[in-house]
Amino acid sequence: MSLKLQIKDTFNKELPADPILENTRRKVLNACFSYASPRKPSNPSLVHFSPEMIETIGVLEAPESQKFLDIVSGNEVLPNTMPYAMCYGGHQFGHWAGQLGDGRAINLMEVEHNGKSWALQLKGAGETPYSRTADGLAVLRSSIREYLCSEAMFHLGVPTTRALSLVLTGDEVLRDVMYDGNPAHEKGAIVCRVAPSFIRFGNFEILAAQEDNVTLKALVDYTIKYQFPHLGKPSKSTYLKFFKEVAVRSMEMVIHWQRVGFVHGVMNTDNLSILGLTIDYGPYGWLEDYDLGWTPNTTDSANKRYRFGTQPEIVQWNLFKLANAIYPLIEEAAILQDILREYQEEVEVAYLEMMKSKVGLFETDTDDKTLLAELETVLQLSETDMTIFFRLLAQVKRDAISDALEVIRASFYKPEEIKGGIETQWLAWFKKYEQRLQKEKKRDSERAEQMNLVNPKYVLRNYMAQMAIDTADKGDYDLLNELFNILKKPYEEQPDHEKWFAKRPEWARNKVGCSMLSCSS
Ligand code: AMP
Ligand code: MG
Repeated sequence: MSLKLQIKDTFNKELPADPILENTRRKVLNACFSYASPRKPSNPSLVHFSPEMIETIGVLEAPESQKFLDIVSGNEVLPNTMPYAMCYGGHQFGHWAGQLGDGRAINLMEVEHNGKSWALQLKGAGETPYSRTADGLAVLRSSIREYLCSEAMFHLGVPTTRALSLVLTGDEVLRDVMYDGNPAHEKGAIVCRVAPSFIRFGNFEILAAQEDNVTLKALVDYTIKYQFPHLGKPSKSTYLKFFKEVAVRSMEMVIHWQRVGFVHGVMNTDNLSILGLTIDYGPYGWLEDYDLGWTPNTTDSANKRYRFGTQPEIVQWNLFKLANAIYPLIEEAAILQDILREYQEEVEVAYLEMMKSKVGLFETDTDDKTLLAELETVLQLSETDMTIFFRLLAQVKRDAISDALEVIRASFYKPEEIKGGIETQWLAWFKKYEQRLQKEKKRDSERAEQMNLVNPKYVLRNYMAQMAIDTADKGDYDLLNELFNILKKPYEEQPDHEKWFAKRPEWARNKVGCSMLSCSS
């Protein structure tokens, strides 16, 4: 019996493989991947699956079946497949880190369904040649975070990798959560991730670093053939169009992040998808109080390189590294530089448009940039919840601006601070907003409707994920399931779930997992 999937592998059939078959850690040269088999879990059990993804990839077997569990837990490898780990490098926190690779991700297969193809990857299924000093495993805590967040992002309209399933392996995994010398055993888990492709910027960088232009060209041509076929046959001009499209897609992704308040946390080049998908959900976080300087990643707390406000700029930095990597195939630095410059111009325009949509401005006005910059200033005067603020702003009436501060008051974490100079600045901003709204053609109700399509009501607040983790750790998956379902309709009113439209509770302010996260996963 098989899962009756339409298996159609291309990556491991068309690109050069590492000739060594042993699962030993090593430097891999002139290859795009190494074969690697998932480790056998000692007692696998299914925690959750995504019905949408089951349908999307065409799983015909019941997801509750033993067969499904065997595949997504790594217990069984389908006979006609050749699992592998990808070879990639990366710039980590601004520095070239050399070979990284899939240290704990194993690609099972590619499947075709309804004219689309999908790669299936197990995260946490054991060692690979790229595991370096680590164990190749993942824990329930980080797996729930990836599982819930990637599906939530999809429903928010943010380009992302998806999650098919979440399983427990039955094995224990040792982790020192805050890297402070307090390791503890946690439950081992595996997420089966799904994406059209898991190729990252770093896949190209590693080959460029090896000065292996032959394999580099093979990978670029392969990527264009399967993921960017509309760009045409390989040529310098096609490669330039490819780079431009990667730049545009990455820009669209990061503008969505800014729109919903998602902070990735580890925007290293090995964590940037060539398809402009959000990938590798690690110490990410959701902005609660609007703070452009916030990062959830304690590993980055000294420099805050990947703080919320710099994400669009970091994408450009990463694109620059990608441009360097593919340069040997193009040898026209000026055009690559032009594309990078265009990114900068376009991202500013896109950011302004996105912010305008969040405050319900649809007409054009030369002062909009200033108005929105001033909003970002007032939002940071006193802790203000981003999600709640923008959702409540939709209820502000054009002809009743004097009530505006009351309408949005529930978004302040410390309402007692809204007095004196802070209150004056808020009132001044609302006054300008009122004048600007006079230039809008839409009525209040129409404006509110449009705003509610871009300002989510429900996001995976950091403490919500942590609560789901704490209960799941005790074997109770009700909250995990509840959040999974609520987050499928993030823009809709869900009166039964109103309690999740609330500010972060005080107990979560400085709690590990809620406001502080590390790369330990
Ligand atoms: P990250 O920046 O967390 O996405 O990971 C950086 C690199 O570390 C990648 O090559 C990962 O595959 C690898 N890595 C992270 N965690 C583990 C682990 N537990 N075992 C092996 N490799 C890992
Ligand atoms: Mg990664």
